[in-house]
Amino acid sequence: MRIVLVGPPGAGKGTQAAFLAKNLSIPHISTGDLFRANISKQTDLGKLAKSYMDAGNLVPDEVTIAMAKDRMEQSDAVNGFLLDGFPRNVSQAEALDEMLKAESMKLDAVLDLEVPEDEVVKRIAGRRICRNDSAHVFHVTYQAPKAAGVCDTCGGELYQRDDDSEETVRKRLEVYHTQTEPIIDYYKAQGLVVTISALGKVEDVTGKAMAALKGDGEGE
Ligand code: ADP
Ligand code: AMP
Repeated sequence: MRIVLVGPPGAGKGTQAAFLAKNLSIPHISTGDLFRANISKQTDLGKLAKSYMDAGNLVPDEVTIAMAKDRMEQSDAVNGFLLDGFPRNVSQAEALDEMLKAESMKLDAVLDLEVPEDEVVKRIAGRRICRNDSAHVFHVTYQAPKAAGVCDTCGGELYQRDDDSEETVRKRLEVYHTQTEPIIDYYKAQGLVVTISALGKVEDVTGKAMAALKGDGEGE
């Protein structure tokens, strides 16, 4: 399956992607995680991306699309992928369509995670991620690690993302509404969007998402 996850920052895309990717046996491709890996390795791409990320802005399309394309062309993604955080505006969605069309492929679904803004703000305020791999995500109260400050998965140090500060979050939410939300209508026009509420326990949201993706009518 080729799936796009969409929803505001803090909706739980990364958290759900980890379970969905495992259940569906497809790789979880997060452009945010790819940028953060480049930042830790201090690559040129990482240095460029960091200035945009710290300001809560989108990294320019040209570099983002090239990075996403490169990742989607790796051998583990030939039979499908779960995109998290890409596409993030209509030009990226168009570029993705072009890429898939060139390979005679298409998307199967766009899963839209709905969470009210006050809940998103609480989720982001308590989010802690792992220094070794930003796909290892916790929350100080909602998804607390067994030992405070230590990743359950790999023992790495947990920290708060620089762009999870209150001011940057406000900017990221504005960017989501103005630039990313329009892709929902873009994909609705293709009949691809399934929307679920991402409120409630992580495992219940995963259950709803799986049902919605299988199209058995249990999604909302
Ligand atoms: P996104 O990838 O959409 O930005 P994350 O997956 O990083 O969001 O989740 C944001 C924060 O919310 C994390 O701290 C995560 O542990 C927490 N979280 C995710 N899903 C839930 C949920 N269903 N209930 C409560 N907290 C959640
Ligand atoms: P995320 O981890 O998805 O919350 O992304 C963190 C930050 O990385 C975003 O605020 C952007 O600055 C950048 N980013 C991630 N994905 C994209 C994308 N598809 N296009 C542009 N910038 C992105």
